[in-house]
Amino acid sequence: MIAVLGIDALEASCVKKFGCRNLSQESCGATDLSGFSEPRTVVIWSSFLSGRNTEREVLASKDMWGFRLDAKDTFFSAFERFSAIDVPGFSQDVAQHKREREALKGFFGKKVTVEEYDAIALEWHKKVREEFFSALEGDYGLVMGYFDAIDLVGHLSFGVEGKMRMLYDEMDGIAGKVRAMGKGPLLVVSDHGMKPLGSRYGDHSESGFWSLNSRKDLGMPKPEDFARIIASL
Ligand SMILES: [Zn+2]
Repeated sequence: MIAVLGIDALEASCVKKFGCRNLSQESCGATDLSGFSEPRTVVIWSSFLSGRNTEREVLASKDMWGFRLDAKDTFFSAFERFSAIDVPGFSQDVAQHKREREALKGFFGKKVTVEEYDAIALEWHKKVREEFFSALEGDYGLVMGYFDAIDLVGHLSFGVEGKMRMLYDEMDGIAGKVRAMGKGPLLVVSDHGMKPLGSRYGDHSESGFWSLNSRKDLGMPKPEDFARIIASL
């Protein structure tokens, strides 16, 4: 079984700073986002899944967050049985995403506290974690789980080091648990990183992250290179 741990906005410098060895694994590096005009979440994950740069078509769709690829247009189609949990551009829960965006708006409108906003992200995180580990016990050729708490919380609290450390530790623990299961290749991958915006907030940065539980030099792959890389694992 191939496991893909998709982490939104996982920032390479934070993986290093917080000493997350399960996230950095045996090989790791940065991704090349130079083919995109901006590091947009749905654009990059859709390109990752489909093996081609989908920026034009995602931006041309009416509602970017509602953009959906067919399984036959993704690397999932190479697997007889696969599980894709909450993956943007494919299976993301639209209602939850709406809740997250409304809470963010509410924060800036002073109607939602940062604690309430974080709680929405963390509660969903726990649900995805449970589904991910349940799928990893199942009979699948590939399981991909997508985790977005580091992105959501980071947008409002990237400068709050204790909070970010807690989230990186949590994701490192998830990667460690998957590694210990010994099911096969584990790819940890992010769409983009995060950089400070003022002293407290965070914004998407122009470089993503990858790691593998084997010694492989992938160089600096583009998101759309991973469909081929996954087929070679
Ligand atoms: Zn993102």
